[in-house]
Amino acid sequence: MSELSIFSVSLAHSTGLTHMELIQKSKDLNSLAKQIKSERKTIGFVPTMGALHSGHLSLIQRARKECDIVICSIFVNPTQFNEQSDLEKYPRTLEADSKLIESICDYLFVPQSVEDIYGKEITLKEFDFDGLENELEGEFRPRHFQGMANVVSILLNIVTADKAYFGLKDYQQFKIVERLTKLIQLDTKIVGCPIIREANGLARSSRNELLSEAAREAAAVIFYSLNYIKEFHPFLSIPELQEKAKGMIEGIMDVEYLEIRDAETLKEITSWTENNGVFISFAGTIDGVRLIDNIRI
Ligand code: AMP
Repeated sequence: MSELSIFSVSLAHSTGLTHMELIQKSKDLNSLAKQIKSERKTIGFVPTMGALHSGHLSLIQRARKECDIVICSIFVNPTQFNEQSDLEKYPRTLEADSKLIESICDYLFVPQSVEDIYGKEITLKEFDFDGLENELEGEFRPRHFQGMANVVSILLNIVTADKAYFGLKDYQQFKIVERLTKLIQLDTKIVGCPIIREANGLARSSRNELLSEAAREAAAVIFYSLNYIKEFHPFLSIPELQEKAKGMIEGIMDVEYLEIRDAETLKEITSWTENNGVFISFAGTIDGVRLIDNIRI
């Protein structure tokens, strides 16, 4: 039996009233969404790339609470990866994923092919996010946000959800998706959900599965140093704190950036008081695995 065909069996929903169903074609998903809307039910949508963990579950649970019908998608989007090797090694655990969510999700959309999403040839739209896309991750992963925004806009147009749920772990992504819905004039409300962490503070991520036990423990230093900035921010200057926190991580991980930014514009701040809220953002690698994290002050 193929990995996908296991889904053809309807899976019992925890309420005993509904069943999670697999959908593999975007046109079927679009028809389903129209049918749900004609019944005046609300749709909550959670787009993911799979290898699901408690971070993803928190999004689905929030959708479950706030909407009548919950749709989750799993699609490892090739256009948001910069390195082919990163795309290839991205964990794919479809069977475990479906088991994890079968009791809280109504429909799981797993496109049967990249073509089903992008058509025969991939032609990406170029969005203008007022420079948000060029900050932080944008500098280290050129084209990443254009690829992400393209797939999210395609998915949101298919699902026409009332609400779509995104994790604040990918804070920059969340801000860009908020902007995207305005640009493409969609009615979907974008909901940001808190970061779910492991016991040692490491943000849950599908990529954590690629870490050795020792690296997973050592990576706790990320959350520790972000909190250090949060705790001491009124007492030390911005560059001083940034250097100290970086120093804590270097030697354990390769730091790509550790930046203290404005939570709305994502630009550097020059004072602790004149800003729209402060957001501390980190990216770095350990064991060859790239991890990101952030906290808000
Ligand atoms: P991904 O599968 O990595 O594309 O993530 C799908 C969604 O889950 C995104 O909106 C992420 O921000 C969110 N997410 C991933 N990890 C976490 C986490 N630890 N806490 C909260 N949300 C998360």
